[in-house]
Amino acid sequence: MHKVEFVPEHAVPASPVRGRVQLAARFAKWSVTSAKRRWFDFTANALKGEFQLLSRTLDDLRNDDLVQCNLCGWTGAGFYPNTGAGFHEPRTTCPGCLSQDRYRTLLEVLRSQTTMLAGTDRVVEVAPCAEFQELLRTYDIDYASFDLLRPEAMEQGDITAMRFADGSVDWFLCYHVLEHIPDDQLALKEIHRVLKPAGTAVLQVPYDFVNPTREFGFADPRDVHHVRLYGTDFADIVTAAGFDVRRIEPADCFSADDRARFGFHPDPIYFATKR
Ligand SMILES: [Zn+2]
Repeated sequence: MHKVEFVPEHAVPASPVRGRVQLAARFAKWSVTSAKRRWFDFTANALKGEFQLLSRTLDDLRNDDLVQCNLCGWTGAGFYPNTGAGFHEPRTTCPGCLSQDRYRTLLEVLRSQTTMLAGTDRVVEVAPCAEFQELLRTYDIDYASFDLLRPEAMEQGDITAMRFADGSVDWFLCYHVLEHIPDDQLALKEIHRVLKPAGTAVLQVPYDFVNPTREFGFADPRDVHHVRLYGTDFADIVTAAGFDVRRIEPADCFSADDRARFGFHPDPIYFATKR
């Protein structure tokens, strides 16, 4: 088991007062947007989020060292809610840097299970989150990020037609992206093309652990515009694009105490290495 510790020399600033205000504003805006669309279930979740935000803030006044964020070092009584189209997660967000549980988990998996952050490898990320990207850039890696729309990405780009040369990338981070791409095999083939031989893509998507992958046939606005829900055959889908696939379980890497303290997400992370 890897012992998880906050690393101050590789961190983003913690601004919990500003973070709480930003979350309150985000939930308020979403409550109005969802009400206008008559998605009253989501409006109710947004209002529940506001209440949980207040409750977490009061809890932090009583005990401020039960949980810690490994991106910014914030400590508090518990992580904060996140809510949106098709999801309500009561304890996922760090108010210090607004990171989500899956990115706190990814950071520690990369630190403990790979050499990615130890060297000067070429790392490309699609659809970056601001705080995670900022943290990666504290390392001595050759990092680039792109996205079709996200303003926080360093450049605009399409995962199904990337500008990167064949065999030029050591690590490709693709986190919660494939479920938005109608032709996911084309995206996987592009990732395969840009990776160096034995280069690795780090993949995660939302999973159904019981059923096979289900295509929706459209981008569902009530499910964050996902076009499919991946299922039990996800590893087969990635393997078919020319990768050797290894499944990493956070529970196998970190103790239950560390997973609770740092608010890690239990979902597996797939390492897809170019054959
Ligand atoms: Zn944080």
